[in-house]
Order: sequence, then C-alpha cells, then structure tokens
Amino acid sequence: MCFALLVEQVPSFSSNEWYSDLLVEGMEWLDMFPAPARPTQALISLAPPRILEFVRLHSVDVSPPLITILSFDLWSDLLWTASNDKPTFLKLTKFLVTQSREIVEEDDHVSATVDVNIAMKEKFFVDLFGAESNFHAGLVQTNLSIEGVDGEDEGDEEEDKDALPLTEEEKAYHAKILAEGRKEKLRVVADNQRSTVNNYVRNAFLPITPPRWIEAQSRSVGDKLWELYTFNYLAPIHADSYRFLASLTEEEMKKCGEKALTENTDLIKGNYPLTPSMMKLPVVGDFDHTKCCVSASALAVRGFLAPKQQSAMAELKRIWNVGRPYLKCLCVAEGKGDCGRNISWFDHVLWYLLSDLHYLFPEAPSLKARTRAFRVRARSTWRAAMLASVVFTHMRDIMVKMAYNVVVDPSRTTQNILDDPAIMLHKFPWTMAKLILPARYVRSSEKRRKEDASASLAKKTRKSQPSILEFYVPPARDSSAAPTKDASDLVDLGTPASSSITVQEDGQTSACSRPLRRSHEVWDSPGHLSSNPNHCSDVRVVNCAG
Ligand SMILES: [Zn+2]
Repeated sequence: MCFALLVEQVPSFSSNEWYSDLLVEGMEWLDMFPAPARPTQALISLAPPRILEFVRLHSVDVSPPLITILSFDLWSDLLWTASNDKPTFLKLTKFLVTQSREIVEEDDHVSATVDVNIAMKEKFFVDLFGAESNFHAGLVQTNLSIEGVDGEDEGDEEEDKDALPLTEEEKAYHAKILAEGRKEKLRVVADNQRSTVNNYVRNAFLPITPPRWIEAQSRSVGDKLWELYTFNYLAPIHADSYRFLASLTEEEMKKCGEKALTENTDLIKGNYPLTPSMMKLPVVGDFDHTKCCVSASALAVRGFLAPKQQSAMAELKRIWNVGRPYLKCLCVAEGKGDCGRNISWFDHVLWYLLSDLHYLFPEAPSLKARTRAFRVRARSTWRAAMLASVVFTHMRDIMVKMAYNVVVDPSRTTQNILDDPAIMLHKFPWTMAKLILPARYVRSSEKRRKEDASASLAKKTRKSQPSILEFYVPPARDSSAAPTKDASDLVDLGTPASSSITVQEDGQTSACSRPLRRSHEVWDSPGHLSSNPNHCSDVRVVNCAG
C-alpha cells in the first residue's frame, strides 16, 4: 500500500505552480501571479465565472493583486456567501478590495517577526512550567519593537518637513522607502535571533501563528504541515471553511460550539456509519513515510488526561491538542500486532489530501471533478470527522486566547484567565485554564511570575508595542436574511466579548449587524486587549512585538 497509484490522470502544473487544469481558456491570466497553496487552488476550481471575473478585475494591473491575497478561508467564504448570503458576499468583496494593502502589510510583518515572537512567548511558558529546553534557555529578549525604528524614522521625517515642502507623490514615495526600511530591519533582527538559537533543539510547541502564515508555508513542506517546527499548528481551515466543504447545517454548527464549551468529545453521529470500512479514511503511511502503511485508519479524538509522570516539556507540547481529532491505524484492532507508528492529526491529513486530491480520486478527469468528489465525501462518510474538526477549532480558539492573556499579563490565574468569568462556568475553559496554569508548576513559580509581571509592566509602560493579528474575521451574517452564525451561538453560551470565539463586542447590538471589518487589537498594556470598537474580536492574533 505504500507505493503511489499509477494512473493516467496525473495533475500537471505551470512554472508558477498553478494546476494546468485551472489555466483553461479565459483563465490564463492566473499564471501571471504566483500560485496560492494547492488546497486553495482546489477551491478556485469550484468558483463560478462571475467570482473569477471579480478577482481578475482586481488583480490584473492592480497592486496588490487580489488573487495573491485570497487565502483558503477567504475563498471558502467567497464561495459559501455567494450562494447562501448575498449581502455578506457583497460586504466581503468590498472588504477585500478596500483592505488589500493592509492585508499584505500584515502578512509581511508576521513573516518578518513570527519566529522570534513565537519563541519568546514559548520561553514564557517554559519558565512558568520549569521545563527544560536548551533552545529557549539560549533565547534573549530582543526588542523587536518597530517603535525604535519608527523613532529614528520619525526624526528624519520631521527634519524633512522643516526643510522642504513635499508633494503628495513625494510623501507617498518617502513613506514607502521608510516602510521598506522598517521591514528590512525587522527581518535582520529576526535572522540574527534565528542563527543564535538554531544551535539547539527547537522544542517548538506554542500554536499561535496566524492561519495565513501557515498556509503560506504549506508548499515549502510539500503541504505536509506536520513537518513545520511544531506539529501543534492547526491546518489553516476555519470553522466556516469546514461548513463550506461539508455543507454543514446551522444546527450542526451550533452543536459544535456547545460541544466545545462542554468538553464533549464524542463524535457527532449522523446518517453515516463510523466504521473504518464505511468511512474510507486514508492509509496515512501512503503519504507520510513515518506513519503506518499496513492498515487503514480510524478516527478518534485526543483525550484530556495526561500520561503519568510526564516531563514538563512533554506536557507543554501536549496540552494544545486535547480534544483534537486524529487518525490512528488499525493494526492492533485487526490483530496485526502493534506497528508502533504514531497518530496523525486529522486536520493535517485533510489539508494534505486537499493538496493532492489525485490520491483520493485518481480517476477523476479534472481538478474540479476531484474537488467536487472530495466535497461529496466530506459531507457524507467524513461528516463526523468534519464536525469534530469544527469542535476543535473552537477549543483551539479558547486555548490561544488564554495563552495570550497569560503571556501579556503573568498575574492571571485560572479564575481570570479570560476576561469574562461567565465563560469559565463551562467545563472546557475551566479544564484548559488548569492545563495552561497547572497548580503544580505555577505555585512554585509564583514568585517569579510576580517579578516577571512587574518587569513586563515596566517594559510595556515604556513602550506601547504594536501587535500583529490575523486581520480577517469571517463575515458576520444578517440574522434576518441568513441562518445564525455559529460564533453567535457561542455568544449565547456566555462567551466573553474579548474571547476568541466571539464576534460580539461591547457597544454592538448584534454580531450580525456589522460590516466586515479588520480586527485590529493592540496590546497597549498588560492585561488589556484594547479593540477598535468597529472591529470584531478575533482570536487569530499574534503579537509580533515579542
Ligand atoms: Zn499500523
């Protein structure tokens, strides 16, 4: 089973990495641009002509070209709203056209600073848990603040202003030069840090990078996301994308939100048997040589109980995956003996399969046919797996929010790890708070945390650090015109305004009444996540200020 299937319909690619299937007559313009990730191209194969024309109009001779901005999640939102929610579709298209430059800037900033930023946040947890990690021990807090750079630049600008008046065109050019300088400086600082620390084992664990960054890395690892620094990273597929792929109902989406909060990891059973022979899950060893290629896979969900006497570092790597669906071979169940091979996260497998649908459907005549066949499978025999994935995306959102809060304000306890105590009444947030701030580690390091808190406060007071976040918030829907958004259902269960899974904020009457917006929160002081009131809270944030 470990050899590739040899069939006639092998996909081919252009020099820009586009599926040749997509470059049909009238679509050749795509090849003027670098191709997006292959799963994203699979979605493009489903796009109706009017959406493709919209994207073409805003890509050819446009800067930045829209086609280079559209991620997997954005395409799935475009496709879903185009057929299910016209008003939101219009808002989404407007958002994309007006915010494209900001999206690009945000991406650039993330890619320049993500390594150092994540590593420093990890170091916080390593210290908190008293875990052993040579990599993190070798890290030094680097002030990645752009403000220092800005400070110099602003001085420059002042001087220029005094010296000579500039035309608008000249000002724009000057601003561009300054922005490039800032970007370059960040890159150099990040590179310096990287070369220092790579002498050690990476020991990465904290899964808080924005999904867009993960998607951008996809090709570099052959779409095998498990080969990134940490396999804790979740595939860049948000809850609404699962809904699109598997045609999930509002009722199901709501149920997923409830299950996440109540820590209910039982699979949602539907009309399709969950037996391995019926589900036809892939043999992971066929495309990941470290995995089993002897027997088929079964779906399961990672439990919450830790193995006994586990090291602190192992615990730090484990806690982010509780509740996460995975595939495990059936060797033992089928009496073939224990092959000793490890599990695979289902979302990683799904992302890989979306990048190579030929593996699943070797005889399908085109990319479009393969993608359509995939959706049929996603909404039938794999429906339970898709639903379990939605549940986990909600859980992960809560985890990430907690991790941010603790790093920004080390004085947080399990009681106030989220700003709204109401959400802590639910089982999962409470469990997770105890995993992130476990009493056995935290008590012993309480003193250190207090010291860190005051040091952090002093630092933050000196400089308000800019932060980077995943700018895009899935479109809220008009409640009168469309079914309720799943995240709003979670609001009903008592999610705090600042929580990861909420789209509702103070001063907003309804999550459904707002236009699309870019979430733009800045951590301006420890413990306070300030938000632009016009923007949604969104968990997919990353503070790139270190
Ligand atoms: Zn096996």
